[in-house]
Amino acid sequence: VLAAPVLADRDQPAFDRSMMDGFALRSADASTAGSTLDVVGVVAAGDVPTKAIGSGEALRIMTGAMVPPGADAVEMFENTQMDDTRVTLSQPVSRGKHIAPRGEELRAGAVAVAERAVLTAARRGLCWSVGAAEVSVIRRPTVAILATGDELVDLRTVPKQTQIRDSNRCSVGDVLARAGAIIQKSRLVPDDRLATRTAISEALRVADMLVLSGGVSAGDYDYVGDCLIDEGVRKVFHKVCMKPGKPLWYGRFGLKPVFGLPGNPVSSFVTARIFAAPVVRALCGRRDARSPVVSMPLLTGFGATRGRPVFQPGIVRWGKGVELVSTRGSGDLRHFSAMNALVFLEANRPGFSVGDAVQVYLDEEALWGE
Ligand code: AMP
Ligand code: MG
Repeated sequence: VLAAPVLADRDQPAFDRSMMDGFALRSADASTAGSTLDVVGVVAAGDVPTKAIGSGEALRIMTGAMVPPGADAVEMFENTQMDDTRVTLSQPVSRGKHIAPRGEELRAGAVAVAERAVLTAARRGLCWSVGAAEVSVIRRPTVAILATGDELVDLRTVPKQTQIRDSNRCSVGDVLARAGAIIQKSRLVPDDRLATRTAISEALRVADMLVLSGGVSAGDYDYVGDCLIDEGVRKVFHKVCMKPGKPLWYGRFGLKPVFGLPGNPVSSFVTARIFAAPVVRALCGRRDARSPVVSMPLLTGFGATRGRPVFQPGIVRWGKGVELVSTRGSGDLRHFSAMNALVFLEANRPGFSVGDAVQVYLDEEALWGE
């Protein structure tokens, strides 16, 4: 995302440019079909035309070449007949035809790419065309991820029977990295107040944003909220009216956003995707940081919802709609992992039928279909 506008270094086009392979001519000589002109030379792309054309004259000209002085239109070869040194036009040619006038796209000094614009492939091409070899961009935010839980072991450790491998640092980290974050630091933290506070304070020092997983529910060892407050994080909210993800904790440490995500793998993923990823995009400087949401018909029915809306994993079938994936609750990463979208199912509905329109939060992968 650009931190400063990129300006045109010169007029674009820098000269009156032919947009066709054909004949440069004076439109006054070409007001009727059948006009015949003397061909007095040729100008190729990159050439500087040496002489002006006079009345009754034409010059062969190639796409991208400078229109010679005197000429005010270009007729393409396809609409002409050439014999020897003369060309006959099959139709009248109006002034300015097939000429891109100097400065038509951009004037020297004008904004080519605006501040806060995302550097897409097309815009990067434009940067090159105006000679912007170096551009100022907004620094991507660094994010620290702490996974809390005495039961957690690292990917490369063999878990004892009652232990589990931490997967949240991976899935949450990927969600945030895809939104533009640089994952600066990521570690496991035991369910211990002192260890949690130390890890929080270290992370807040080094990263622009902090994300924790686990320890924000009502369990006996859920210390994260208290520890964040003890470390000076200002609580903005705790708990959201949604399923999964109800225990979500959010606060600010100065300008740094701090999320406490629920530990269940599905809850962690959904809250990272719905809440934390847009915050990362905003920190990246994007003007519109919201998630892409489209309305689509359901391809699967769904039962009644109660007081909380449900984010259900879905698979987008382009041109048809969205299929719901059923899971065995918010610990079930295995069934959840088929998703490429999250489907918002309103609260307090008696049920959802095939064909009902729903709001679908698309993952990048959804663009490619299954
Ligand atoms: P918690 O929010 O700490 O109560 O955790 C809720 C559930 O999610 C528990 O079953 C945890 O074992 C599980 N869990 C917590 N953190 C992780 C993690 N990083 N990776 C996988 N599962 C987790
Ligand atoms: Mg826990």
